[in-house]
This record gives sequence, C-alpha cells and structure tokens, in this order.
Amino acid sequence: MWDFETDPDYQQLLDWADEFVRDEVEPLDLIWPHLQFTPLTQTRRKVVDPLKERVRQKGLWATHLGPELGGQGYGQLKLALLNEILGRSQWAPVIFGCQAPDTGNAEIIAHYGTPEQKERYLRPLLDGELFSSYSMTEPQGGADPTQFTTSAVRDGDDWVINGWKYFSSNANTASFLIVMVVTNPDVSPYQGMSMFLLPTDTPGVNIVRNVGLHGERDGEGSHALIHYDNVRVPDSALLGGEGQAFVIAQTRLGGGRIHHAMRTIGLAQKAIDMMCERALSRQTAGSLLADKQAVQAYVADSYAQLKQFRLMVLYTAWEIDKYNDYKKVRKDIAAVKVVMPTVLHDIAWRAMQVHGALGVTNEMPFLGMVTGAAVMGLADGPTEVHKTTVAKQVLRDYTASTDVWPSEWLPRKRDAARERFAEYLEAEVGNQ
Ligand SMILES: Cc1cc2nc3c(=O)[nH]c(=O)nc-3n(C[C@H](O)[C@H](O)[C@H](O)COP(=O)(O)OP(=O)(O)OC[C@H]3O[C@@H](n4cnc5c(N)ncnc54)[C@H](O)[C@@H]3O)c2cc1C
Repeated sequence: MWDFETDPDYQQLLDWADEFVRDEVEPLDLIWPHLQFTPLTQTRRKVVDPLKERVRQKGLWATHLGPELGGQGYGQLKLALLNEILGRSQWAPVIFGCQAPDTGNAEIIAHYGTPEQKERYLRPLLDGELFSSYSMTEPQGGADPTQFTTSAVRDGDDWVINGWKYFSSNANTASFLIVMVVTNPDVSPYQGMSMFLLPTDTPGVNIVRNVGLHGERDGEGSHALIHYDNVRVPDSALLGGEGQAFVIAQTRLGGGRIHHAMRTIGLAQKAIDMMCERALSRQTAGSLLADKQAVQAYVADSYAQLKQFRLMVLYTAWEIDKYNDYKKVRKDIAAVKVVMPTVLHDIAWRAMQVHGALGVTNEMPFLGMVTGAAVMGLADGPTEVHKTTVAKQVLRDYTASTDVWPSEWLPRKRDAARERFAEYLEAEVGNQ
C-alpha cells in the first residue's frame, strides 16, 4: 500500500509545532545565537525550560526514541515530518530533544552502552541537561578513517589515549566525548579501532583551538582541535567491544545523516517562503518580480527540487522504520546525503538573488544557508565518498555482459525476436 498522508492526530501536533517554533523558538535564534549547545545559565533556563516542558506535555520530546528512553517511539518518518519544521531554527532541535550530534551519540550509547554508561551519559543527555561531542576526524585525515593514528594503549586496568582530533563539534561545551582510536595497530583498521566514552574534563583532554566557520568571529567557533595527551581512562570507558569502532560509526552516522536531511527540508522551505514573499512584494521595470519569467523559473525549479528531495528523505525514513537496519538502507541514506548540499545551495542562492543587495547582507540569513550547504557537503563525510557508496550499491545489482556486445544490443535482440516469432513473420510474408 502507498499512502502519502499524515495521520490527522499527528498532523495536529505538527501544526502546533509549526506555530510554536515560529512564535516561541525562532526568537531565541536572534537573542542567543549559537548558544543552543551551551549549558544553560540561570537566566536562559527561565526561558528554555518552560519551552521544553510544553514540548514534553505535547508528547513531542525526543519522539524518535522508544518509551524506555523517554521518547514516544514514533520512529524516523514521524521525526522527519517534525524535523522539517524544526530545521527552520537553530534552537528548535534542542527544545525538542533531537539535536545533532547528540541524537547520533545517544543512539550508539543506547545500542552499545553498558547499563552504567547509559545511566551516567545517556540519561542526562536525553533529559536535555548536557551535550556531547563525537571526536573522530583527525587533522591528517577525515574522509578515510584508516588514516587515523590517535591510539589507546593498555596500561594495567586502564587505557592511555594519545593523539590529535579535529573538528570535534561542540567539544567546548560538551560534558563528554566519544572518541575513536586505534587499539590494535597490528590488524586491519576495520578490526583494530575502538570507541571510548570519557568526560571532557578528564586530565589530558586539551582543547587547543575552537575552529570557527566562515562568518564567525575568533573565539566563536565550536569545532575543537583536541590534543589527547596521555589521557587515562578505565576499561569501563570502552563503548561496545574492543575493535568495534567501525560498526558503531556506521550506526551513528547513518542516523545523523538522515536527520540533517530532514532539517534541511525545513531550511530550504524557509528560503522558498522568503523568495516567494519577495517576488510578490517587489516591483521593478513595470511589473512584479513574480511576473518575470526568470524569477518564475527560480520559484518553479526550487519547488520541484525540494519536492523531489523531500519525497526521497521521507521514503528513506520510512525504509529505516521498516527494516530497522541502517545497513540495509545505506544506498538511499548516501543518496540523500549526496543530493542535500545542492538542494540547499541552489534554493538559498536563488532566494538570495531575488532579494538583490539585501540578500547578501548580514540582515538576511541567505549566506549562512549557503555556508550551511557547503558544510553539508563535508560533515559526516564528503559528497564524493557518498557518491562512491551509492554507485557501489547500485552496481551490486548488475552483472557484466556475457560477451563484447551489451545485453541491450539491438541486432542480437532483433534476431532473437525474429527467431521467436518466425512462424508469424513467415505467415505475414506468405500473405503479401
Ligand atoms: C561543520 C563541520 C562539523 C563537523 N563535525 C564533526 C564532528 O563532530 N566530529 C568529527 O569527527 N568530524 C566532524 N567533521 C569533520 C568531517 O567529518 C570531515 O571534514 C570529513 O569527513 C572530511 O574529512 P577532511 O575534512 O579531513 O577532508 P579530506 O578527507 O582531506 O578530504 C578532502 C576532500 O578530498 C576529496 N575526497 C576525499 N576522499 C575522497 C574519495 N574517496 N574519493 C573522491 N574524493 C575524495 C573530497 O573532495 C573531500 O572534500 C565536521 C566537519 C564540518 C565541516
């Protein structure tokens, strides 16, 4: 059965969320920009806690998680419909308990953590009381984890971690880190790497710099360069088994990627909304911008591009719910990841262009969206690598031609067809 309708009860909740985000949450982006991952001060708590409470009362807190983890167990498709509303605002995912990178981090602790790790890290993470950071990329290599050299060596009952990590987002405000390290250099990296869970204030965890993105001032960055300098952790800090890092990373990144895509729908829709409003508001050379063919093409192309992307994301979310296995949905998650930066870039760029000079100022959000699109082509792996994944998965369903001619080579197919219907062809010739 195919059905593209949202069930009416959930639609009511989505309508509530849409109004709530626009009226109550988007203002936080303006008064406290970039502070959504910073632990709350007393002042901010007075505003933020009641908003989270309203979300909880509506049953929309961390909806994708099962009830045992404090959510509703709604799954990825319903999360997608919610996330496309939350994607409009920086603060909204935090207010609804489903922000990256914490969702992905929570997911792997839920999957692989011991009861003690869940109690210590997962519970407060899901309560929205603290933040986490995923520390995998290294200065000398991100796209290819086999280049990683940060290591953990056993010393008695402990492990000692040494090395450098780069772009560990939110490490400066996170309470704990999930770090991927080499634990056995003598086997393939796919078996020789492990994950550790450790508090950010563990001695030897040195945040050397917080790298900022374009447009952020020095000191505003949130992507840490970390020197792990003889960081001693107990055996109980190991997440999952020794040598499990690659398996765990796949679980984490699968979810993270599709969640970004869901939010991107919301951001791109916001750009379309602004484009259309401007097109209907601005008069030039005798007519509205909306009456110019070039602007109509911007609107139509943007609408069609987002519609395709949205259907692709919703379908992939549905697949994740159906199979409950990221590996099985790998091809489509990678395909979504490939398409995402272009969709946001193209739509934001057209919306910016329609706004003229105002579009490129810091009084409108378009260049931030364009930077966001560039980030999406890198974070959680570069587009090129995901294209390789898609291609490999697609090619897996095909086999090589048995001889020099392609199987669709017309002369051979024609001969085969003639042979099959020879008696009719002969009868036709005979009747002429
Ligand atoms: C905003 C942001 C947040 C991030 N947050 C985190 C985080 O929280 N934790 C974390 O661990 N990392 C994080 N990252 C890092 C991110 O995962 C890496 O940037 C990414 O994996 C690419 O690694 P790299 O930057 O070292 O580029 P490289 O690996 O050096 O690749 C550079 C370029 O080479 C090309 N390339 C690479 N491999 C291939 C290939 N196989 N085929 C064809 N071309 C290729 C691509 O054009 C690629 O962009 C974040 C990055 C950004 C931008």
